[in-house]
Amino acid sequence: MDRSGVVVVGAGIAGVACAVELTRAGVPVRVRERGHVRGGRMASKRFQGRPADIGAAYFTATDPDFVALVERWRAAGLVREWTDTFRAYDRSGNHEVTGPMRFAAPGGLRSLVEHLAGAVPVTVDRLVLGVEPGPVVDGESCAAVVLAMPGPQAALLLDPALTDATRVVQAQRWSPTLAAVLRFPHRRWPDFRGAFVNEHPVLNLVCDDGDRRGDGAPVLVAHTVPEFAAGHLAQPTGAGPAIEQAVRDLLGLPEQAVDVHVHRWTYAKPTHATADATYHLDADGIGLAGDAFGKPRVQSAWRSGRDLGRALAARLG
Ligand SMILES: Cc1cc2nc3c(=O)[nH]c(=O)nc-3n(C[C@H](O)[C@H](O)[C@H](O)COP(=O)(O)OP(=O)(O)OC[C@H]3O[C@@H](n4cnc5c(N)ncnc54)[C@H](O)[C@@H]3O)c2cc1C
Repeated sequence: MDRSGVVVVGAGIAGVACAVELTRAGVPVRVRERGHVRGGRMASKRFQGRPADIGAAYFTATDPDFVALVERWRAAGLVREWTDTFRAYDRSGNHEVTGPMRFAAPGGLRSLVEHLAGAVPVTVDRLVLGVEPGPVVDGESCAAVVLAMPGPQAALLLDPALTDATRVVQAQRWSPTLAAVLRFPHRRWPDFRGAFVNEHPVLNLVCDDGDRRGDGAPVLVAHTVPEFAAGHLAQPTGAGPAIEQAVRDLLGLPEQAVDVHVHRWTYAKPTHATADATYHLDADGIGLAGDAFGKPRVQSAWRSGRDLGRALAARLG
């Protein structure tokens, strides 16, 4: 990497949005991602060739610039309006709730991050181990480094001498979730699209993935409450039967699932916003971006990365 360039660690939507802005401004940038693919928590996994979303369930768009990006994804055939109507379940029954339009991606939300990345160079399967003053990333000097990931993951990389950034990530609090993909023989549930589940010991969200994706496949994706997830982080697969039973009881399903896949998110969502700013950038050339700088949403993560990219371009340009 050119000493004048920026290393972005993390190819979730925040890191990719940051790299896109830097590229646009002519600043050399390299993105390094420890996973096999781009997308981060906008994650999809294929089951017999069919994708299911195992991270973010959907997203909403209110920021005019983000709305414009969503329009570009829609024009590319990647995104669809899913629904503004969910059901809410609680101890007394269930009722319809309307809210903002929720968007979904037939090819999985990850496809949107891939589209946004375009020609930005992303090296996958590249675990970054440490950031030292300089900044120096894994022994290599650069003009600035961006850690676009949950704070506890960034904390693992930061030299304690980098006090500003270390203080910011240490102030963050994150909660876990398990996401279970339940594949059934048939669609035997009432029309509900998505369901918020309140006051439940296991579940907080169930989505009809066949409806969300528009192919009508008999697939549900359930997210658990943090307290339940916390007890199963060591052995997430072992939580499958309890999640399946909870979903069947909730929706009155007569059939067992043919397959249950459980994905662990140790750092699923920040529990409160870090600060008023949409990113962190200190005098050491260390930047932090992600959904901790706003509400725990796709839109906040994108805005954080975009804003940090602009700030870095202004500083380095
Ligand atoms: C279960 C769940 C449900 C959600 N539901 C919704 C929803 O309905 N609506 C909504 O708007 N948002 C939702 N979210 C939140 C949304 O997914 C996030 O806000 C957004 O995707 C965060 O993007 P990011 O780029 O900040 O972080 P991430 O997507 O987490 O990206 C960080 C990246 O950094 C990489 N990385 C970490 N450490 C290293 C390292 N040392 N070296 C290299 N790479 C590294 C990771 O592999 C990852 O790819 C949900 C999240 C989860 C987990």
